[in-house]
This record gives sequence, structure tokens and C-alpha cells, in this order.
Amino acid sequence: MGIRLKTSSETERMRVAGRVVHEALRRCREACKPGVTTAEIDAEAETVLAESGGLGLFKNYPAPSPGVKPFPAVTCISVNEEVVHGIPGSRVIKDGDIVSIDFGVRIDGWCGDSATTILVGDVARKWRKLCDVTEQVLQIAVNNVAPGRRWSQVARQMQTFAEAEGMSVVRDFVGHGIGQQMHEEPKVPNFVSPDLIRHDIELKPGMVLAIEPMCTLGSEQVRVASDGWTVVTKDGKPAAHYEHTIAVTEDGCEVLTDGN
Ligand code: MG
Ligand code: MG
Repeated sequence: MGIRLKTSSETERMRVAGRVVHEALRRCREACKPGVTTAEIDAEAETVLAESGGLGLFKNYPAPSPGVKPFPAVTCISVNEEVVHGIPGSRVIKDGDIVSIDFGVRIDGWCGDSATTILVGDVARKWRKLCDVTEQVLQIAVNNVAPGRRWSQVARQMQTFAEAEGMSVVRDFVGHGIGQQMHEEPKVPNFVSPDLIRHDIELKPGMVLAIEPMCTLGSEQVRVASDGWTVVTKDGKPAAHYEHTIAVTEDGCEVLTDGN
């Protein structure tokens, strides 16, 4: 247990996975047009995954256990009021939708995980702002992660910016350490809580984190829909989700899922 630091060669292997994730999300973005179904978008990621020889992290997650229905697709696609963990299917994308796509892969034993929200056609001004602010929240984290800093300092910057822009930060789902497993220690919340202060993390070179702010236009309250997976806002207001896998370096961090 505990946080496993990665060597630079391990981080480079995670970058290989990160490139596949980036390419899959790029292909999904191209496919994400009015009239296509979320299953058709998911199929684009399946194609990239097959070409890569990697293993999708989400399909059949988690390992079988009584009463748990494994996730059935390689991407999570969450439209409008859906926050995360949307199941690709027959839902048809419409002009004005915002579509969050999350994808993760393991290549030669090492994982990458990233998400983006795609604006389809003529998106309402307030919804565009939601996406813009959430993407900026992720960028604030990338700009401020550095060795010696505590994660709560970064989380506070993320939360303060989002709330000053009139957005709410989802509390029920957080980022995570990542490496040979998709979910490793530590938890990486996008907000400050007494729990975070108690279990605060000092950032160190070799830490690899999946940072993934989720913001909403209404309240931060969410619930799980009747399919057992899709997380939706309780008030039906839209949500946005952006995620990168980053590695803490000697003087900041590098993004492993930006396609470089
Ligand atoms: Mg993800
Ligand atoms: Mg993640």
C-alpha cells in the first residue's frame, strides 16, 4: 500500500499508454457529431484500442463479484446532465450537447487515463462557459503541481477558481494515483475537505496522478441512474469533465496524455 513512485523509464512507459488514450479521444472527437449514437463514438475508441494491442481499463470493470454489474464498454460517454460513467448506447448526439468522453488503457503493464468534454455545434453560452472553466481548472492543477507542494494547496486553487466562476465542484468522485493499476493511492480530490487536510499529500517527483475535475452549472449533488453506472446531476443541470494523467517532475509536472 501507499504511494508508489515511478522511475523515469516507468513514466515513459505510461506516456506510451497516454498517447493511445490521446489518439482514441481524438478519434472520438472527430466522430462526435449530431446524429451519431454514443455507441458509434465508443466504437472509434475500440478501433484505436485494437490497433494498439492494449487493454481497455473500463470494459468489464470491476472484477466479477456478487451484485456488481461490470461496465460494458471501453469508454464512458456522459452527455449533458450526465457527469461521469455514462454507458455508450443508443443515445443520439444532438446539436448543442456537451459530451464527456473518458478513456483508459493499459499497454505493456502501464496505464493511461484521460477525459475531455466535447461541445457539439451551437452550445448555449452558459454551457460553453462551464466547459471552459472546467478545462481551466485542470490547467490550474497542471500549472501548480510541483515537488514540495501539498495537494490541498493545488485543490484549493482548483476549487476557488471554479466557484469564483459560478460553478460547483462535484464531491462524490475524485482523481487518483495511477500506474500499473488504474486506481492507486492517493485519492486526488478537486476540493478541500477536513478529510483531505487530515490525509494531505506532499507532491514528490515520480508521483503519477490522474487529475480529473468535474464541475456543474447547478449544485454539486449527484446520483447514480437506474442503469447502475451513469452518474447524473440531481438537479438535471449540465456537467463537464476533463482529465489528464500527469507525472510530478523535479520542477513541476509533465502531462502524459497530451499526445506528445
Ligand atoms: Mg478517466
Ligand atoms: Mg481517472
